[in-house]
Amino acid sequence: PNPLCFSSVPGRVRVAVRLRPRNAEESVADADFADCVELQPELKRLKLRKNNWDTDTYEFDEVLTESASQKRVYEVVAKPVVEGVLDGYNGTIMAYGQTGTGKTYTLGRLGEEDTANRGIMVRAMEDILAEVSPEIDSVLVSYLQLYMESLQDLLDPTNDNISIVHVKRTVKGREPAHSSDNGNSTSMARSLRPPLIRKGKLVVVDLAGSERIDKSGSDGHTREEAKSINLSLSALGKCINALAENSAHVPVRDSKLTRLLRDSFGGTARTSLVITVGPSPRHRGETASTIMFGQRAM
Ligand code: ADP
Ligand code: MG
Repeated sequence: PNPLCFSSVPGRVRVAVRLRPRNAEESVADADFADCVELQPELKRLKLRKNNWDTDTYEFDEVLTESASQKRVYEVVAKPVVEGVLDGYNGTIMAYGQTGTGKTYTLGRLGEEDTANRGIMVRAMEDILAEVSPEIDSVLVSYLQLYMESLQDLLDPTNDNISIVHVKRTVKGREPAHSSDNGNSTSMARSLRPPLIRKGKLVVVDLAGSERIDKSGSDGHTREEAKSINLSLSALGKCINALAENSAHVPVRDSKLTRLLRDSFGGTARTSLVITVGPSPRHRGETASTIMFGQRAM
């Protein structure tokens, strides 16, 4: 297999589903009810209960159970993307799902003190900083907030929904370039290749809660907010679908979010999407729509 290919089809989005364990409230309130989601991680399958006797089955690139550790989630979802960034390829990691299902927990924030709980962002920074050399390379981290189609630069990493890590590496001309007419390299003129600059960009996006699409006013946000969230998520969905279909035209210009991700779509870029779901039968409808978003991306 080509190590540069993140998945079998270059440019394709890799989709993982992660199930959050029942929280305290659900353990009590839903004690008499079975979870609406059942996972078969070894088959990479998710079963969604339709009713007492029927389920729908979906396949994903990865299926992460409620006992999957943060470390494992990082390794499965993010590490290949981070390795690409260190090699000079752009990468994107996104989380999508209903509010409360673990998007922010999964992506993590700089500053998380509990070692086991550290999310993707902290682990990615650790891997990047371990690999680069402080004298010749540079790493620049920035935080943006996307709100109502306006992007704002933030200094406070605890209040972001988009984190961007620019990595610029200088790879010294280590390999000698020599002509190969007779293969006798020792007698041939040798010259060192000029230093190579590799620039990779990692974008980590904590998407709006899936329940907020088209439900203006239902949970306190305004109609304008709902419209704006809908715009960026549907534009993102269209771009992801275009990638999934290997389409030559990816409509990046339709929203601020997709314009920001413009050079992260297709080509050699690697994209991981984690969809997060909860087990509660009360949220079956929302869980089903999250699963469909993930399925369309594959
Ligand atoms: P979201 O960002 O999707 O709204 P959060 O990441 O804030 O959801 O998660 C909601 C709550 O559930 C938080 O208290 C979080 O710590 C907890 N949580 C989420 N996912 C998990 C998980 N896989 N294991 C344990 N706790 C989790
Ligand atoms: Mg969140």
